Amino acid sequence: MEIDDFIQKSRDAEPFSREELVEMLSFPSDSPESYALMAEANRISKELTDNKAEIHAQFALNLAPCSGNCSFCSFAKKNGIFQQETEISVDDAVSSAQQFEQDGANAIFIMTTAKYSFGKFIENSQEVRKKLRPETTLIANIGDQSLENAKKLKETGFAGVYHALRLREGIDSNLSPENRKTSIQNFQEAGLGVGTCVEPIGPEHTPEEIAELILFTGSFNPSYSGAARRISIPGTEMASLGMISELRMSQIVAVTRIGVSRRVMGNCTHEPCTLGSLAGANLFWAEVGANPRDVKERTEEGRGESVKSCRNIFNESGWDIWGRPSRYYGHHA
Ligand code: SF4
Repeated sequence: MEIDDFIQKSRDAEPFSREELVEMLSFPSDSPESYALMAEANRISKELTDNKAEIHAQFALNLAPCSGNCSFCSFAKKNGIFQQETEISVDDAVSSAQQFEQDGANAIFIMTTAKYSFGKFIENSQEVRKKLRPETTLIANIGDQSLENAKKLKETGFAGVYHALRLREGIDSNLSPENRKTSIQNFQEAGLGVGTCVEPIGPEHTPEEIAELILFTGSFNPSYSGAARRISIPGTEMASLGMISELRMSQIVAVTRIGVSRRVMGNCTHEPCTLGSLAGANLFWAEVGANPRDVKERTEEGRGESVKSCRNIFNESGWDIWGRPSRYYGHHA
C-alpha cells in the first residue's frame, strides 16, 4: 500500500490488518513515510484529547531482587543489580503520593516488584488513599492477580492498573503469558481500567512481533496503549543487544496510535521525549524511588523525570496538559 492510502485509511478510521501494521513498521524510521505516519498519529491524539496530554506519576513501595527474572529489568535477581530488599515507610508513601497530587499528576501509580505481599500492598494503599483527595486517580502497578484480589484493589479505591503482556513474555521473563492475559481479564472484570503498552522494544524485535502486540493491546479496550523502548541496564546480558533510537520508538508509537481503535483515547510512551509527543504520545510518566529501568535506588537522582519536566517536554512540542483526574482511566469530571 502507498503511504497516501495508509493515511486515507486512517482518516477514515478503518481498522488495519496485521500485514498493514507490519508494512508501516517496516518503513525506514528516517523516511518521509514514517514522518507522515507520525504526523497522522499526532493529529489523531490531539483530536481525541482536544490537545490536552496527561502525566501520570509513579512511586515504588519496595525494591528487591525479583524471581520474575525479566532479563530487561534492573530488579531481576539474575541481573545482580540490587542485592537487598528495601521498603519505604507508609509515611514516605503518603508523602510521595501527596507531592505528586500537588504537582498536578493526572494519576498516581503505586508500584511493587511482582512478589511483594498483596496484603501489605493493600494496607499501605489504604493509608495512601485516605490521605489523597477523593477524586484523585489511584493506579496499581503490581504482579499478576486473581479475580478476588482484583476486586480488593477496586474496593481499596484504585481506578485501574497498569498491566502488559511484554514482548517475548515467557522467553525473556519467567512469567507466563497466559497468566498475564488472565490477570488483565480479572482486572477488567473487577471494574478496573487497564492501561497497557507495547514494551520493552529492542532492536531484535521484528515488525511482525510488534504488530502482533499492537493488535493484542487494542483487543481488550485498554485505558491506553502505546510503545516504549527497552533501556539497557549496564552489565546485563540483554544490554549487549543494544537499544532502538527515540526515532524508531516514535515510529512505533505512531503505528500503535494508528492501529488501535479511536475508542482508546490514550497513547503512552516511555521514557518521555519530544519526538514521542510529536508522534502521537499523549501520556508520559514521572517517577520517584525504585525504577526497573534504573540502577539508582532513587530514580529521581537518575533516569526518572518529574511531573514538571514531563510538562515541559509536552509544552515544547505544542501540547497542553489536562488539568483534572485522568480521562484515560474513565474520569470525565
Ligand atoms: S519486571 Fe516485574 S516481574 Fe520482572 S523482574 Fe522486574 S519486578 Fe520482577
